[in-house]
Amino acid sequence: MKQTSSKPIVNEPFPLPQRWGDAEIELLTQAMRQQSLFYWKGPQTEALYEAFRQHYPLKHLFPCSSGTASIHIALASLKFQPGDEIIVPCITDMGSVLGILHQQLVPVFVDIDPDSYNIDPGSTRRAITPKTRAILPVHLCGNPCDMDSIMTIARENQLVVVEDCAQAWGARYQGELVGLKGDLSCYSFNDFKHLSCGDGGMVAANDDAFGLNLSKWGDKCYNRVTGIRNPDELALNYRMSEPLSAICTAQLGKHDDIVERRHRTGMLLHSLLENIPGIIRTKIQSGDLHSFYNYIFRLDLDLLGVTRSTFAAALQAEGVNAEDGYIPDPVYRYDLFQNHNFYAGTWPIRDFGLTDMDYRKVKCPVAEEFLQDCIHMPLNEAMTEAYTEKVGLAIRTVAERFAP
Ligand SMILES: *Cc1c(COP(=O)(O)O)cnc(C)c1O
Repeated sequence: MKQTSSKPIVNEPFPLPQRWGDAEIELLTQAMRQQSLFYWKGPQTEALYEAFRQHYPLKHLFPCSSGTASIHIALASLKFQPGDEIIVPCITDMGSVLGILHQQLVPVFVDIDPDSYNIDPGSTRRAITPKTRAILPVHLCGNPCDMDSIMTIARENQLVVVEDCAQAWGARYQGELVGLKGDLSCYSFNDFKHLSCGDGGMVAANDDAFGLNLSKWGDKCYNRVTGIRNPDELALNYRMSEPLSAICTAQLGKHDDIVERRHRTGMLLHSLLENIPGIIRTKIQSGDLHSFYNYIFRLDLDLLGVTRSTFAAALQAEGVNAEDGYIPDPVYRYDLFQNHNFYAGTWPIRDFGLTDMDYRKVKCPVAEEFLQDCIHMPLNEAMTEAYTEKVGLAIRTVAERFAP
């Protein structure tokens, strides 16, 4: 092992973008002068529909309080029966599965592809049972899922596809923005996503068969069009308010610029990490556009001959903003699932014999291995080419130190 240099290669702090500014302030100021901040027919929310559709031309939209809410609304609107199954990748945010559980549905976790880290079509196909109703592909890190395979599997088995685009603003599958292929699509404006109003979301659909009732399912089952108040189904209040709509509209005005910068930075880093011993880069399908929510790569720990934490510490010593690992465990390993502790220690649908799912028996080997050897790096639109080149050089230097 060569000596560690005393001065870190990345000798400047991790840059942070100024994410909100005049555009947001201007629209927020407009909102503050309104008589009402309610979303229905609100000018900020009407503007948000337009701003969103300039990128994602989807007919039915419901702006809501979070990405989690957007997925819950999508699932509630589908009116599946308790015990029905929804296929979801096991590497994702809790937001992907909370709505499934709250609708008394069963998340069926499937493995990821070892190279893209996205839902694996083969595992998806093998997980289908007579109770399967939908697939929820997650475009992880901003890398689009293999949507042709997912849509083929779905159509062959009459399954609905709900796209989780929370991490993938601006990502394109074979040229087309994510969220335009599935039946319903869900987006997040939480503080960590490419675009943010603090917390917010959008659920969208093009087809009337899927989109007509979105507002009903996010707005207490009230009918805002007729004004008639007679809820006939159990729906939540997941509305977005006018000030947040105003911020989201302003953020969408920056959509292309933010995506372009992140894409450029991510692709530069990706090219800098080519052919480094011990570094296994993610696979980006040719024709796809990765919008880099973050940058994750894997280590060949046998070749490097070190533990991941040693490697990550060496990166940090060179000034790289890197963490060993991503989420701590596949979602099914969380205590919530291991204990089936969904409703105060019970799981009604299982107690009533509507599912025999046992999350203690679930195992997704590819995902488990991935979480043992991956390195996660935040990435944002403020990273310059010069900064990114230092990061690439630092990673190469560290890797070559261990695996010359
Ligand atoms: C962030 C995220 C969500 C949930 O979004 P919130 O706005 O935080 O509720 C869902 N799925 C994925 C993949 C996410 O990254």
